[in-house]
Amino acid sequence: PRRGYKSTFLASELELQRSASPRAPPPPQELLFGKVFTDHMLTVEWSRSGGWGRPQIRPFQELRLHPAASALHYAVELFEGLKAFRGDDDKIRLFRPELNMERMQRSARRVCLPEFDGRELLECIRALVRLEGRWVPRDPRSSLYIRPTFIGTEPTLGVAPPGRALLFVLLCPVGPYFPGGFGPVRLLADPRHVRAWPGGAGHCKLGGNYGPCLELQEEARARGCQQVLWLHGPEQLLTEVGTMNLFVFWERPDGGLELVTPPLDGLILPGVTRQSLLELARQWGEFGVREAPLPMGSVLGALRAGRLREMFGAGTACVVCPVGEILYRDQVRGAGGVRGVWGGPGGPGGYGVWGSEGNFGGPGEVFG
Ligand code: PMP
Repeated sequence: PRRGYKSTFLASELELQRSASPRAPPPPQELLFGKVFTDHMLTVEWSRSGGWGRPQIRPFQELRLHPAASALHYAVELFEGLKAFRGDDDKIRLFRPELNMERMQRSARRVCLPEFDGRELLECIRALVRLEGRWVPRDPRSSLYIRPTFIGTEPTLGVAPPGRALLFVLLCPVGPYFPGGFGPVRLLADPRHVRAWPGGAGHCKLGGNYGPCLELQEEARARGCQQVLWLHGPEQLLTEVGTMNLFVFWERPDGGLELVTPPLDGLILPGVTRQSLLELARQWGEFGVREAPLPMGSVLGALRAGRLREMFGAGTACVVCPVGEILYRDQVRGAGGVRGVWGGPGGPGGYGVWGSEGNFGGPGEVFG
């Protein structure tokens, strides 16, 4: 873009104001996800009349917002999540950040936040990460999480595309995503709740997709599960796991091995980790790789037949997260008293538990 043309901001115009009181990063083992922020942040303002302002790196600080800002009322808000890693060679690398920039712009279109050049934002992010280099942990399980955020700051209550907006980027050094470490998780699958729907915005990384998931997430926790397995539709299609994409690795009925993940049909967030795993597995060529709907019935059938080898969630925050168990209420089979279909702690209105010790097909399963 031409200099001075305000349809994007320019990394070459980045202004830097250094923190007067930089802190020492805590040791990696004390890092819980998203609790510690680095000394600086990036901000860029936009208005319909003035276009994009200059990007600024400034000391980490609170925002001043008009209480009517459209992000606060109508969730005119989106975010991204990507990571910087320190290699054995001590170099800092971002993991496929161009894909996050593209997804961010797709999300922006959905809530009528303004366009910008993703390459310019990426250059600004690189400058911020370079400045905060000492916050990228020297620990193979840890990394620097990058949180670009884009909010409507329009100070009027009409539901309309915002005339003002703020893009900002925060950095957090992070350790393992789950406090218990990278062990297998137990999922709650409850077909009465859905995360996204056809024609909706599940494929965009909008804040409005996440708040409404908290209630079921809390219910999952209360039932001894770490994450929600989001189902959809009459076939109870497995869609996503918490904030991760879902994969199963199974034997097809004809005996061939196959990695399957749900297709990008609008219900699924197109994960960078998902895309990377698909590309790697296709390159390896050691087993079939398919993007296909995963009805609960097929997964249960494979489980019953001993064909389900692995199930896992995949996402930036946790990378790959093995699924150990699913807590599932079978409303189709629940004749009479609605019992846990696999026995175990079922009972009236009950739930069945399957799998144990991180593998599938444990002795508790008696369904079908
Ligand atoms: N699904 C949802 C709903 C998510 O929030 C995320 C995290 N961005 C993912 C999947 C995984 O995407 P990625 O691999 O890009 O982190």
